[in-house]
Amino acid sequence: MEKRLLKKDKLAGIIKNISREMLVYAPVKEEDNVLFMALKEGREPLLDFSNSRNAPKTFFFPRTEIMMKYTRTGKGMELSTGEVEVREAVLFGVRPCDARSFALLDMLFEQDKYKDPYYIARREKTTVISMACVHPPYSTCFCTSVDGSPTSGEGADILLMDIGDNYLVEFITSRGEKLLKYFGDLPKAGEAEETLKKEIAERAEKEIKSHIPAKDIKPILDNNFEHPFWETIHRKCLACGTCTYLCPTCHCFDISDEAKGSDGIRIRNWDSCMYPLFTLETSGHNPRTTQKERWRQRVMHKFKYYVDNFGAISCVGCGRCVMYCPVNLDIRKIVEDIAKL
Ligand code: SF4
Ligand code: SF4
Repeated sequence: MEKRLLKKDKLAGIIKNISREMLVYAPVKEEDNVLFMALKEGREPLLDFSNSRNAPKTFFFPRTEIMMKYTRTGKGMELSTGEVEVREAVLFGVRPCDARSFALLDMLFEQDKYKDPYYIARREKTTVISMACVHPPYSTCFCTSVDGSPTSGEGADILLMDIGDNYLVEFITSRGEKLLKYFGDLPKAGEAEETLKKEIAERAEKEIKSHIPAKDIKPILDNNFEHPFWETIHRKCLACGTCTYLCPTCHCFDISDEAKGSDGIRIRNWDSCMYPLFTLETSGHNPRTTQKERWRQRVMHKFKYYVDNFGAISCVGCGRCVMYCPVNLDIRKIVEDIAKL
């Protein structure tokens, strides 16, 4: 793996050069929020921020997406599924928790048996440049409790770490190495920088103050689907869906057909297990009748079913659901309470 040193004041120019040839998505300030957006001409990405409000998964798995178009004709139906048209892109400034969410989403969307061509096409055309969290994290960050780290490169193609006057630039994958030309002839990192990196990584891990027993609760969940505990956690929940829509690992969607005259589209939109309609069946039966069953599903999906299916917890500890839940429902507290059952 190539490790180079980049003078900090050169980074903005490199991103600008990349954006002349491909799409660049990056964190920018929008009113009071930091949001991942397509970088428009003349705008520079934010380099000094904790994390964005929206999760960058949206560039691989958009909120709404047309899967197919169709036209009814006298002879039947003409379908145009079409290839997924995707441009080369760079996702710049992704925090390690969010980059890790891509590795978790890959497990679902690119299985041996089931492949999602829409997600895969974007993933294959996009280079992820991650920025290690070396500055104080949010009090709600808990990446180290779910197998992550503030300086991890998992899910990224290139990892940048602020080591003082320079960024330590790690070209992790061959896709990342393809961008070497934009970085120019950078000096190689030596032993001194490796030592510095280790020190900074250790310090960053210590800065994460929120620790939860996320890895201990799977056996408890295995045996407590009907536990009275589930009656207690959901009462405040407004079913607004904020937690799932901001979550970098949530991936539920709904597929519907929208027709006008003879033409129609098949479209998929994000959906949320927090919504009453999510499991409403055509017959009128709804197997998840209250918020109790919906909240249990959210916890089970992240901390049991994903572990059963893919061997990983489907939470990267970004803390967005904790920060933005309007009634302060805190998944960390729920995990702690489950560990005590
Ligand atoms: S953000 Fe809070 S109130 Fe809204 S659905 Fe999630 S847990 Fe319920
Ligand atoms: S469950 Fe909450 S903390 Fe975990 S990845 Fe989703 S939004 Fe982040």
